[in-house]
Amino acid sequence: MCVFCGIVAGELPKHEVYSGERVLAFLDINPATRGHTLVVPRRHVERLPELSREEAAELLEVAGAVARACEAQLGASGANFWINQGSVAGQVVPHLHMHVVPRYAEDEIRVELQQARAEEEELQQVAEKLRKGLE
Ligand SMILES: [Zn+2]
Repeated sequence: MCVFCGIVAGELPKHEVYSGERVLAFLDINPATRGHTLVVPRRHVERLPELSREEAAELLEVAGAVARACEAQLGASGANFWINQGSVAGQVVPHLHMHVVPRYAEDEIRVELQQARAEEEELQQVAEKLRKGLE
């Protein structure tokens, strides 16, 4: 059984923050900042497209509410929300989870994408391929 399924089933300990019909939120035991929370679907799902519309809606709603609670209760002034999908992206536990990392004016977290300029032709080709993939 995966570790998050164990947590959902109550077989492993957790610092629960929210328990909903379709999702559960609990503290990351290795927090990047104070209040770092994981929001997971109760159902074992590995990747984002496997979520039902209802699960996706509750997951986003709870993530937003957790960030708001971090502002109200912990003095955070913003948050990063992210999902690592696939080992290439750093997904360690194969059970979808969204990180909610509350941000503080004085924190020293750096979240940075190394973005580069692309040629117009390249952008057009990529957009065309993605439109096909989304048909
Ligand atoms: Zn699982």
